[in-house]
Amino acid sequence: MPARRFPGGRLLVASHNEGKVREIRELLAPFGVETISAGELRLPEPEETGSTFLANAELKARAAALASGLPALADDSGLAVDELGGDPGIYSARWAGPRKDFRIAMEKVQAALMARRAGGAPGARAHFVSVLSLCHPDGHCDSFEGFVHGSLVWPPRGGRGFGYDPMFLPDGRDLTFGEMAPEEKHAISHRAEAFRQLVRACFA
Ligand code: IMP
Repeated sequence: MPARRFPGGRLLVASHNEGKVREIRELLAPFGVETISAGELRLPEPEETGSTFLANAELKARAAALASGLPALADDSGLAVDELGGDPGIYSARWAGPRKDFRIAMEKVQAALMARRAGGAPGARAHFVSVLSLCHPDGHCDSFEGFVHGSLVWPPRGGRGFGYDPMFLPDGRDLTFGEMAPEEKHAISHRAEAFRQLVRACFA
C-alpha cells in the first residue's frame, strides 16, 4: 500500500527530547511545515514497551496523534554496538539514567567494551538507527528506517549534537558527530536518511 501523504496543516513532533525535536525541525524546514512538539502541548510521554525501534516509533506517534487530533511524527532511534550484541539499541535513552546524563551512558558503553576488548571503545564497530513513523488520528501509520555506520572513539570528542554523538565517528570522516556542524551531520545521519524516505513518500 502506498504511503499516505501529509494532509497539510500542523504537524506534531512526538518527542520530549529537545535534541531530536530541534533536528526534526531543521530537517523539515525546507518543506514549510508548521510544527508543534509534544512537550509544548504537555502531552504525556508514553512508555516505550515495544521490542523494536519500529514498534516504539509507532507507539509514540500513534499515541500523540490520538491525543492531539494532529498527524504526529515520532523517531525511535539508538546506537547499536556490534560487539555488545546491538546494545544499547532500543535502550539507548535508558542507559543515560533518570537524569538523562549521556556522559554516564557513554561511560557505560566504554565499560562494557573494556570487558571484551583491550582499550574498550576505540575502533569498535557501531551504527545509529532511526525509525520515523508518521501516524494519523485514525491510527494509520507509515514508517521509514535509516542507518549510519561507523566506529567508536574514546574519550568522547566535541560538544555539539546530543546523546552518543561525541563517541561516534562515521565511516570515512575525521570528525565525530559531536564535532560536526549540524549541516554536516544532517547530510549523512541515520535520521536524515529516514527523513529522505519520509519526504519522498509523504511530503514531496
Ligand atoms: P528514544 O528514541 O527516545 O528512545 O531515544 C534514543 C536515544 O538514542 C537518544 O536519547 C540518544 O541517546 C540516542 N540517539 C539517537 N539518535 C542519536 C543521534 O543522532 N546522536 C546521538 N545519540 C542519538
